[in-house]
Amino acid sequence: MSNHYIQVAIPVPMRQLFTYLVPEQLQSPAIVVGERVVVPFGARKVIGIVMGTDAHSDVDQKKLKNIESRLNDSFHLSQSLVDYLQLCAHYYHHPVGDVFQQALPVLLRKIEKVTLTPPMVWQTSDFEDVDNTNDTINKLKSKAIKQFNLYQIIKQHSGISWAELRTLGYNKAQLNALHSKALIEEVEQTTQAFTWQDSFLNQQDKLQLSTEQAIIVTAIEQSLNSFSCHLVDGVTGSGKTEVYLQAMETVLAQSQQVLVIVPEIGLTPQTLSRFEQRFNVPVALHHSGLNDTERLNTWLTAQQGNAAIIIGTRSAIFSPLHNLGLIIVDEEHDSSLKQQDSFRYHGRDMAILRARQLNIPIVLGSATPSFETLQNALSGKYNYHQLLKRAGNSSKAKIALIDMNHQQVEFGLSGTLKHEITQTLSRGEQVLLFLNRRGYAPAINCKECHWIADCQRCDKPYTLHQKQQLLICHHCGSQKRIPPQCPSCGSVRIVPLGQGTEQLENRLDELFPDASIVRIDRDSTRKKGELAKLLQEVSDKKHQLLVGTQMLAKGHHFPDVTLVAVLDVDGALFSFDFRASEQMAQLLIQVAGRAGRASKPGKVLVQTNFVDHPLLQDLVHNGYHHFAHQALTERKQALLPPFSYQALIRAEANYPSYPEKFLRGLTMQPLVSCEFAGPVPAAMEKKAGKFRYHLIIQAKTRKHLHGAIQQLLMQIPQSEWLNKVRWSLDVDPIDL
Ligand code: ADP
Ligand code: ZN
Ligand code: ZN
Repeated sequence: MSNHYIQVAIPVPMRQLFTYLVPEQLQSPAIVVGERVVVPFGARKVIGIVMGTDAHSDVDQKKLKNIESRLNDSFHLSQSLVDYLQLCAHYYHHPVGDVFQQALPVLLRKIEKVTLTPPMVWQTSDFEDVDNTNDTINKLKSKAIKQFNLYQIIKQHSGISWAELRTLGYNKAQLNALHSKALIEEVEQTTQAFTWQDSFLNQQDKLQLSTEQAIIVTAIEQSLNSFSCHLVDGVTGSGKTEVYLQAMETVLAQSQQVLVIVPEIGLTPQTLSRFEQRFNVPVALHHSGLNDTERLNTWLTAQQGNAAIIIGTRSAIFSPLHNLGLIIVDEEHDSSLKQQDSFRYHGRDMAILRARQLNIPIVLGSATPSFETLQNALSGKYNYHQLLKRAGNSSKAKIALIDMNHQQVEFGLSGTLKHEITQTLSRGEQVLLFLNRRGYAPAINCKECHWIADCQRCDKPYTLHQKQQLLICHHCGSQKRIPPQCPSCGSVRIVPLGQGTEQLENRLDELFPDASIVRIDRDSTRKKGELAKLLQEVSDKKHQLLVGTQMLAKGHHFPDVTLVAVLDVDGALFSFDFRASEQMAQLLIQVAGRAGRASKPGKVLVQTNFVDHPLLQDLVHNGYHHFAHQALTERKQALLPPFSYQALIRAEANYPSYPEKFLRGLTMQPLVSCEFAGPVPAAMEKKAGKFRYHLIIQAKTRKHLHGAIQQLLMQIPQSEWLNKVRWSLDVDPIDL
């Protein structure tokens, strides 16, 4: 007897599965868990994933609908992936259909049948005339070094995709040039599962491990094929990546796959090329710079096991994997690993969940571990490995504070800093100026009456973008022209207030006319490939002064930068969010880590109006770990995470009273071993025209938190305010 009934996960905001009937003509071959089916839902047809099959059902037959069709393609999800995604949905109490939806590549969410053209890769051509070819290649070496390098990479690998080459910083013109010289050709990618060969390791690239590193690699190797979590805690340049590479080697040599999760910005040519240089194995990439077809290819090559290494941003954790042996999460503290809308999951935490499910080890790496991870390491729950020395003998950058109260300040730069910049430039070295505020100025105001141009939808000032001649609200994205005169008093003396990166770039141009300046922020890198291009220019020393936001603090290493300055750190010192100081400390240490190398140690200057602030003092004099221990002690006393567990219910509506009443209603029934905090207005109470309130649920154990959320999710549909508000649930929130 075949299965007549199936339970299906459907992309709707309901926390349940739906039962459908499988009509006779669709029953063979037998339907299996993980299949994609087309089902009617209301007036629509949607793609669902089969979660369970039954021969019998208690539901009244007449109430059930038939499935529309089965998608008989090769894109089934394995039972293991289905189980995992259900665990994720359960952990976050998120609608299971939506979890599946987000885990699938866009092309697999569509009803149209996917016609898959086989993934293509580049390889070097077989040459008939070897002498002639060698000539051509030698010419490239002297005349077109980029083409030469590109050729070498293609030669090293047996088939490399355009997506990878692009991520490495090469462009179509360079590729076409090699193609037209008949040096390379495009072929279909093999679909065979990868099996290790000794030639896959580039032996010359391998470094002799320090004792510290060797101990870590051995510990990871000894834990293969069972679950364990390793924290590799070491500053930038301490040799973490080399540890990853050698641990990966052991796993790859068993013909198992490795999944590497990085923050969006961490996926730079530098990171990728380290992996590419070491291993001549097929790599699948997963990041926002890929198109839908490329993403589907990644999915497929990971599933078939053709890809040996899968490198990607947070959602890569949902990839189907043929034979995974190790997960690495680099920069595990990075907040971009957490998705901040709809399905609010943390890539690191879901990576740990997956490693546990698959019974394999996971390695977390950071110079500034999150307090959650650090606590788990200190308590012995994770294996704690510290890399205390910088590898290759490079020395650690020193951090010093500049007291802005006793300085002549011009364009946000203190006299001390200007002097240091001049000195550094005169030595032919590079300078990085860090200002976490993009745009020209964070506000404009009227000189006469002090009117400020506010976004009506957010009650916050518009940011001036001079180049575009626009006012842009950084909270809701709304745009406006710059008013020719003050709407309040009619004066034409409307001036920028404060400084953003765009303005800083202009000012530096005036102050240091001989230096070339490059700005790296979200505005200057909007175009695809632009970030890689600018970073390349920096490493080619085309620019001496680098100006940037948070983007510059992450993932990149600039060996010729010997001076880093943080222009304004004060905002983070007085925040109501208990995580603000943790994030500030991480940012400062990360920025400091960008600079210097063995022969040229770096210097870090931090401008502040509050030099005596205890957090700053502690961080500067005693370092991140001392600071973190202090802060963890405080959190323990206050019973804040990681010593308790939180969930956050956000609610918003067009009127301020609705979300507040909705949330207050939820607090009427007491919870078991949990406490409510709030409801309180969100830090930005008004955003994009909506009023926003928060309710925090705090518990001593995760089990109690789960129980409380379950109770609240049953209560919510009963609320009389339900139709008037939009609400969402955030388990383990990281911003309040
Ligand atoms: P991290 O990932 O912590 O920033 P890396 O692994 O990139 O550190 O190492 C930093 C630098 O030190 C790199 O240039 C790397 O080649 C070098 N390095 C790492 N380990 C060793 C080692 N065992 N011996 C010599 N140099 C090393
Ligand atoms: Zn005015
Ligand atoms: Zn706005």
